[in-house]
Amino acid sequence: MTDQESQHDPSRRFESFETLAIHAGQEPDALTGAVVPPIYQVSTYKQDGVGGLRGGYEYSRSANPTRTALEENLAALEGGRRGLAFASGLAAEDCLLRTLLVPGDHVVIPNDAYGGTFRLISKVAERWGVEWSVADTSDAAAVRAALRPRTKLVWVETPSNPLLGITDIAAMADIARTAGARLVVDNTFASPYLQQPLALGADVVVHSTTKYMGGHSDVIGGALVVGDAGLADELAFHQNAMGAVAGPFDAWLVLRGIKTLAVRMDRHSANATRVAELLAAHPKVTQVFYPGLPGHPGHEVAAKQMRAFGGMVSFRVAGGEEAAVAVCDRAELFTLGESLGGVESLIEHPGRMTHASAAGSALEVPGDLIRLSVGIEAVDDLLADLTRALA
Ligand code: PLP
Repeated sequence: MTDQESQHDPSRRFESFETLAIHAGQEPDALTGAVVPPIYQVSTYKQDGVGGLRGGYEYSRSANPTRTALEENLAALEGGRRGLAFASGLAAEDCLLRTLLVPGDHVVIPNDAYGGTFRLISKVAERWGVEWSVADTSDAAAVRAALRPRTKLVWVETPSNPLLGITDIAAMADIARTAGARLVVDNTFASPYLQQPLALGADVVVHSTTKYMGGHSDVIGGALVVGDAGLADELAFHQNAMGAVAGPFDAWLVLRGIKTLAVRMDRHSANATRVAELLAAHPKVTQVFYPGLPGHPGHEVAAKQMRAFGGMVSFRVAGGEEAAVAVCDRAELFTLGESLGGVESLIEHPGRMTHASAAGSALEVPGDLIRLSVGIEAVDDLLADLTRALA
């Protein structure tokens, strides 16, 4: 058992990640013995007299048993006190921002992040008086320089989307704490199997559970996990007050995906390593971004804070944007599509697809960049497809 794994509630019977992934929050159903939590597709619950709640449930925006199972599972896997499940990753982020910020507060955001996160802060939160500035979060001095007296959040994505930048979570936690701010880590690319930010000092973990947690490209979901009880209560209040909760079927799909998270992440990481090595040796590839490659600037930090390096690989091609678009079009097994983290491999052009909303900003991505979500198919088939697409 690693130090990170020992952070979760000690009253639980099992400690290892793989066992928690399958069992945490999921006792066999008391009524039928069903070994997985039923989908409680229900909005309201009979009360035994006014206020007489059986099992604590009164209305499914406030709480629903299938969602509770997922939320307990998320808390156990991230080593947190409380998990909260939302309708999407951005719904989770929106709840976090509106819970913790008031007009005039300031957020440091990374110079490489999911375009939708940047859009939410720069186009939506800004209209409500939230101030923000961009910093390279792999550079502690740059983050310190970006702090202001009213900085309330330092936002980190590691590995980042789409350039696979690595930020030292423990170092950022120190900087944020000293400044009286909270550290938020978007752990979507790593998943809690590969990296546990709360154990490294983060205050809040954000997930798009749409990705590796769900794992099968069949659900949109999001999550927040926190270690502090007061913060958990504040977020839970706003989750209910704002209402963008995960529905019971979506919660069930994410729970089902999480059961195989550990074996999937091992295979994603192994396949991505082979893909990155192939690309690094390819004459038409000018740069490869994968934290598992020893030449990656964040390799040592990633090796310190991650169990393996994950399934995402980005690379730049000779010939500019048109060449990159042509490679995306020629790939066959790598399906051209947005999103990531499913069992099937995906290819995309961030500049025109996932990160189009960052065009013209400090987060604009190079036009010759291609992003791969390396799936768990036979790796030789994946290598052959990329070799063909690059030819
Ligand atoms: N964070 C990261 C790193 C993402 O890649 C995404 C989506 O691509 C999100 C957050 C937003 O999640 P969702 O699409 O579930 O709203």
